[in-house]
Amino acid sequence: MRTIDKIYINGTFVTPHGEEFADLFNPATERKIGEVRLGDETDARAAIAAAKRAFPAFSRTSKAERIAMLKRLSAAVSARSDELEAAMAEEYGAPQYFLCFAVPYAASIFLDMAKTLENYEFSRTIGRAEVTMQPLGVVAAITPWNSNYGFICGKLATAIAAGCTIVIKPSELSAIQTQLITECLHEAGLPAGVFNIVNGRGDVVGAEFSSHPDVAKITFTGSTAVGRAILRAGAETMKRVTLELGGKGPNVILDDADLSSAIPTALMMGFANSGQACIAGTRILAPKGRLDEILEHLKAAVDAIKVGHPSDPEVRIGPLVSQKQYDRVQGYLHLGLEEGATLLTGGEGRPDGLDHGWFIRPTIFTDVTNDMRIAREEIFGPVLCVIPYEDEAEAVAIANDTSYGLQSYVLSSNLDRARAFAAQLETGSVVINGAPHEPLAPFGGFKQSGIGREFGVFGLEGHLEPRAVLA
Ligand code: NAD
Repeated sequence: MRTIDKIYINGTFVTPHGEEFADLFNPATERKIGEVRLGDETDARAAIAAAKRAFPAFSRTSKAERIAMLKRLSAAVSARSDELEAAMAEEYGAPQYFLCFAVPYAASIFLDMAKTLENYEFSRTIGRAEVTMQPLGVVAAITPWNSNYGFICGKLATAIAAGCTIVIKPSELSAIQTQLITECLHEAGLPAGVFNIVNGRGDVVGAEFSSHPDVAKITFTGSTAVGRAILRAGAETMKRVTLELGGKGPNVILDDADLSSAIPTALMMGFANSGQACIAGTRILAPKGRLDEILEHLKAAVDAIKVGHPSDPEVRIGPLVSQKQYDRVQGYLHLGLEEGATLLTGGEGRPDGLDHGWFIRPTIFTDVTNDMRIAREEIFGPVLCVIPYEDEAEAVAIANDTSYGLQSYVLSSNLDRARAFAAQLETGSVVINGAPHEPLAPFGGFKQSGIGREFGVFGLEGHLEPRAVLA
């Protein structure tokens, strides 16, 4: 049993003023593994005050100084990668293949931001104007539980690069992981108050961050519903926002795709992070002429996927994070049948051999139309819909007929054709044939998937404000 009873303010681990405790669980066993003492509004205000005090000096640090800090932060995370992986497996249930990506990724974000900073010019001349990019001030980050380290490190790296100070409220479900990553970040020896991390509830600490007049910007990753609430709360003081919200990505198989590679790729994108990924390609769009063949391949491939405990290296899908998420996804499995969809594989209940833990049977629905709720709403579990299409024009129309627009996927054996198709998709990014991640590319959503972009130059400029001086 772990008790997390400290938050991090002004360079020190302190006992929160808040007195509420929340339970922490191992999602693979459903057993309570600890509790966290939550910060309250007073703690949120203390963190903001520390960040505000640190801002004037930090905003004047040089590029070289900030690059050095980013490198120290990266090294400090790498130094404890084994412990970070163990905590993420225990508290989140992430399978080993995902851990092997998630922790090195969190460390690499700082180095990618250092690279961006190295090449970035903060001043330029435009006509008679000398334009300089100024750090915004105190940034507040609010993050979800589905990749705790990555979100904390990504948002921290961008603030540091820009010369902003930051207050961070991670998900209350990730407190053991947060404690460990905070200890790592502390080791990097940044000036006190530059970053502050407060555990707490969204409607308490998150709400205080979103409305406090000394916060210049909110950078949020989470659900579209909470994103809307944050945007409203920030409007009063004209806060800048970067909102990374939900998704319902189309995973489009073109009729020339080689199914032996396209199907595993489609499933990797559909079931990534045990289905708890905003970028998941959850609507598989299949050409009618090849539908039977595609369904046959999909069923065989899904039935071969191992679901289970993170300790098993063969496992590709772990448990969902909480009882709440488990119940929510079970609800969608029931709803799909009510709406008239057919189960190709999976369905309600737990996978065979797993009688406890928040495990879901990897599920594929067929006979789905794009107006069903299972095709429109983000399920956030290993549940995919197959939607048939007649021709490319219909595939584009179905792909874009959604309120979301985060990331889509195209599978084809003809790259030119895939690019031409990609150019018609209304999403912030399009991945062709499972192409590798590009860390310097902008990431974010069209439509209700968000506002603004993270990473690389686009992420950096989201934390800067241009000032034009005319002489
Ligand atoms: P959530 O929106 O419920 O919570 C996210 C964070 O917001 C948490 O830290 C929570 O405590 C906080 N919060 C809740 N209410 C708040 C309020 N009123 N004011 C301020 N903060 C508040 O999301 P979740 O359940 O933690 O995560 C799952 C959701 O996040 C999914 O919908 C998923 O699509 C989305 N997500 C998006 C991305 C992306 O990059 N676009 C990445 C991961 C997750």
